[in-house]
Amino acid sequence: MPRHALRAGTVIVGDGSTLDDCTIGIEDGWIVEVTPGGPDGDYEEVLDLTDRVVMPGLIDAHVHLMYTGEPEDLDLTGLSDEYLTLRCAEMARRALAVGVTTVADVAAKGNTTFALRNAIRDGVTLGPRVYACGSMLAVTGGRATDGKQSGSIIEVDGPVEARKRTRELLLYHHADLIKLAATGALSSPHTGARDPQLTVEEMRAATEEAHKVGRPVHAHCYGEQGITNALDAGVDVIVHGQSLTDEHIERMLETGTALAPTLTVYRAAEHTEADDPIEQFRDERNRPSSSAGVLEETEPNFRRALDAGVTMVMGTDSGMPYTRYGDNTHDPVYMVDWGMSESEAIRAATLDAAASLNVADELGSIEEGKRADLLVLNENPLDGIETLLDPDALERIVLNGRFVEDLLWT
Ligand SMILES: [Zn+2]
Repeated sequence: MPRHALRAGTVIVGDGSTLDDCTIGIEDGWIVEVTPGGPDGDYEEVLDLTDRVVMPGLIDAHVHLMYTGEPEDLDLTGLSDEYLTLRCAEMARRALAVGVTTVADVAAKGNTTFALRNAIRDGVTLGPRVYACGSMLAVTGGRATDGKQSGSIIEVDGPVEARKRTRELLLYHHADLIKLAATGALSSPHTGARDPQLTVEEMRAATEEAHKVGRPVHAHCYGEQGITNALDAGVDVIVHGQSLTDEHIERMLETGTALAPTLTVYRAAEHTEADDPIEQFRDERNRPSSSAGVLEETEPNFRRALDAGVTMVMGTDSGMPYTRYGDNTHDPVYMVDWGMSESEAIRAATLDAAASLNVADELGSIEEGKRADLLVLNENPLDGIETLLDPDALERIVLNGRFVEDLLWT
């Protein structure tokens, strides 16, 4: 792969800072220099982007590639793993097309997402970088274990089983992260969203195994006890998190535990074509009592965490009802809508999202020694985050140092 460079008018680094007029040198998919003016090195080509903005590719740290976002597609009945793997590939490609160069899948059937991850890595198919947990660990009969979605869950009971199944995911399949269901879920109507499910001991066993090999643990949780349990177990990311208490927030600040508030799935109804999307979205969930009020708590919960300074991570929950691939970039827009600065939202969608996957040494910012996953824009999203929604503003996507349109036909 040739050495080439981009001379950018503005670089959004990803860590909250920006640079004016500098050169990003790229070799073999890696950034080899970020130099004011520049370049320092010799390149076969230096592309003039001095009237453009370059930022890191977006990282969506919470997606479900098996599902399309069409509510009826939550039903996996009769779909083979081979079919689902192809569907995962198409969903991943749709995310890439809007500038998401990395996705983390957080509950899939069998080997589907492991196979896709490996195929993309090996150049067998084109897509964003995939980090895969494989299936999610949940209790027997817990979330997503009923008919329609069954297969994306490994049912475990007791710390010994949790440890064993975690080891299988990590050591046989090289899972990139571990996903735990600390509580029930809105999308599993037979569970109460705020009812605790996996125990502290079960989650701690899984977390210990993941941490031994440097893998992060993301815990789906709602409600006071479930969140407390996940924090007691030492997980790295609280997913959803309605509703954090002051004590939860204090503990998260102390330990650096991040929050993936998944705003897009809760606001998905706002950009569907359904007649009465909000009601339909809610009806899908047919909520028992401990699920009541979760949607209403989303905004105040996010604002409390934001005001306190909790680390936030982009995660759309794409694939869930009305949460479609290609709409991924709504997530940072919603964060700004509810009080974040543009710069903070971009950090949540780049460097902090990379950190939530334990890959901040490789991804998430434009710095020497990192992967060259970049977006070239003709408007600055720091001046108005809606730029990320505008397909005309996103001119080019660089994946592993190469323009995606070049990869399509080679
Ligand atoms: Zn999810």
